[in-house]
Formats: sequence, C-alpha cells, structure tokens
Amino acid sequence: MAYKVAVLPGDGIGVEIMTEAIKVLKQVATKYHLEFELKEGLIGGAAWEKFRDHCPEETLELCRNSDAILFGSIGGSVEEEHLPKWENGNNKSLIRLRKEFDLYANLRPAKLYPALASKSSLRADLAEKGVDILIVRELTGGIYFGQPKGREGSGDEERAFDTMVYSRREINRIAKVAFDAARSRRKKLACVDKANVLTTMVFWREVVDAMAESYPDVEYQKLYVDNAAMQLVRDPAQFDVMLAGNLFADILSDEAAAITGSIGLLPSASLADGSFGMYEPSGGSAPDIAGKGIANPIAQILSAAFMLKYSFHLDQASSAIEKAVDELIAEGKVRTPDLGGSHTTSDVGDAIVEKLLTA
Ligand code: NAD
Repeated sequence: MAYKVAVLPGDGIGVEIMTEAIKVLKQVATKYHLEFELKEGLIGGAAWEKFRDHCPEETLELCRNSDAILFGSIGGSVEEEHLPKWENGNNKSLIRLRKEFDLYANLRPAKLYPALASKSSLRADLAEKGVDILIVRELTGGIYFGQPKGREGSGDEERAFDTMVYSRREINRIAKVAFDAARSRRKKLACVDKANVLTTMVFWREVVDAMAESYPDVEYQKLYVDNAAMQLVRDPAQFDVMLAGNLFADILSDEAAAITGSIGLLPSASLADGSFGMYEPSGGSAPDIAGKGIANPIAQILSAAFMLKYSFHLDQASSAIEKAVDELIAEGKVRTPDLGGSHTTSDVGDAIVEKLLTA
C-alpha cells in the first residue's frame, strides 16, 4: 500500500528544506520497503502567482486525496507583506487548511539537545539538564474563534470583545491526544489552564481531570498558566507533555521554542480525528536567508518523521530519522550557520541520508 502525501513546499526556504525532507523520505522508503506517493501542490505566494489564490481548490483537492500533508512554509518579507502575493501576514491559507481538515490538535515539541546547550537562553546548569517537552495545543477553538467577537460603540464607550468557549467534545478530544502522546513518551502530563479565574477553564480542568482517571499510568499535574510560564524557564526538565487551550499554548509553545535556542530544529504536527495530519516546521519562510541554500532542513525532516509516526504509525522508520538527527547534532561536524556551522542545507540532508544508509 502506498502512503499518499500532499507535498506543499510553499515559499521562501520552504522549497529548499522540503527538497531535503523528500530525500530523507526516499531513503526511508528504500530502507524499510515502503512506498510513498508524493504529489506536489502550490500554496501561499507560490499558488497566488499561478492561480491568484493563496490556497487554490486544486491544492485542497490534492490534500483531500492524500493521507497526510507535508507543509513547508508560506509568506514573504515584512517589506513586501502589503503586496497581494502575500496574505498580509494573516496566514489565511493555514487557517483554511486547519478548518477544511479539522486539524484541532497541534503538537509542538521543544527539545534542547545537550550538544546545543550553549544556544539556549537558559542558564548553563539548567540547559545541561536537557529539555524534551511536547506542547499539545487545541487549535480550532477557544478565544481565537469563539463568538461573539467584535467592536461596538464610540468614544469612551467604544468597546471590543472576544469569547472564550470550549465544549466538552472539544476538550475531550484534545485531552485524549495529549494523554495518548504522554503514554508513548515519559508518561507525564501537565494540564495548563486558568481555572482560578475563568469559568471556561474551570470546565476545561474538570473534563481533563475526568480523563486522567482513565490513564492511571500517566503522572498527572495541574497548573495555572502564569505558573506554567514561570516553571518553563525555571525548571523545564520537569515537563514531558503540556496540554493547553489555543491561546495559552500559543504563547507557551513560543516560550518553549525560545529556550531550545533554534527554530530551525523544531517540527510540528496538526492532527485531525483518525490518522490525517499536517506536518510543518515551527518556523516560517525565513525571507532573510531564502535562496542562499543555508536554511536548516532539520525541522522539515523531523516534520516528515512526525508524519511517519502520527499518520502512518511507522514508528521504527520515524525513530530512525530522529536517531540520525540526534547523532548528527551530537557529532557537530555538519551544521548550518544557525547552529554555528558553515554547511549548506543539502549537506545536512545528505548527512542524514548517509546516517540512515549506514544505521
Ligand atoms: P521566520 O521563522 O521565518 O524567521 C525568523 C528567524 O528565524 C529568521 O532570522 C530566520 O532566518 C530564522 N529561521 C527560521 N527558520 C529557519 C531555518 N530552518 N534555518 C535557519 N534559520 C531559520 O519568522 P518571521 O521572520 O517572523 O516570518 C517570515 C515569514 O514567514 C512571514 O511572512 C510570516 O508570516 C511567515 N510565517 C509562516 C509560517 C508558516 O508557514 N507556518 C510560520 C511563521 C511565519
């Protein structure tokens, strides 16, 4: 059976780093006798150039006919953001894909490799302990989408409002993803909320508490988001999986990414019910380095590894990629400039392929 992948490189470095992820997937296919049907589609500025649409129907149809989406990145530079080719920084294509495929579970790991401890914003003694956290973010609900939202009135009485709302169904499904993820990792889960102030969060905690009872093997902890933000910089090694709603996890995942020191290493997954998912680097299209062949492809390669794990359940192949990346980073011989090296994007891709060949 062939695994069908919609490959959407997008803009900027997306195209360069996707080339390396495909190289790695092809090597994995040979090594583990797998078949991937990789079909490319246009998205973002690249799609606008051809279709005058950032997320054309042709691309949506390709995704509908696939088992997973491997996504690069979209967007242009700040100076050009006003041009119709870009989406004024609004990432509407991403929101459209999330909605179309109901990608409600966003998984963002924050891993600090011991060999890169000096790149972290953490104090050396904390960084040396290593960080390996998975943030599970509810992606399609909460205050970003709750209704009503709007603005009304004028002068001193003008006001603006958003609504934080979560249903039992929404909390249950994201909590299940988080507990299952914890089970496949170090079996610890921290529920992050603001149950001391927000009614929505009292309900959130209640529902997650109830689910915790079905996972007695997972060590369960609850903390308020302000404390979670503080603990992340004081002692991040204490965390394994952190679960939070859309707004809080949006902020915490960027904080966690910063303590790992390099955006070029961090993959992400956005999952729907069943096995469909979209996989992409945590960073953007990096217009400042696009076209120079120096972007770090590791986030994109690890996104492909995530796809193998979460959509295709090919744990062995996925772990082999992660191990190859771990070894490459630990050795420190082949690194792109963001990690202090002078190698190219394709040098890193080739080195990972080589490791897979000899493993
Ligand atoms: P960015 O992540 O593109 O870049 C921030 C910094 O990180 C830059 O200095 C960049 O060179 C560096 N960087 C990012 N990825 C890297 C990699 N793989 N290797 C080496 N260095 C890397 O964020 P930004 O500058 O705020 O945004 C640029 C564009 O990307 C904007 O148009 C923004 O809207 C878009 N964006 C898209 C996505 C997405 O497609 N999911 C996410 C974030 C930003």
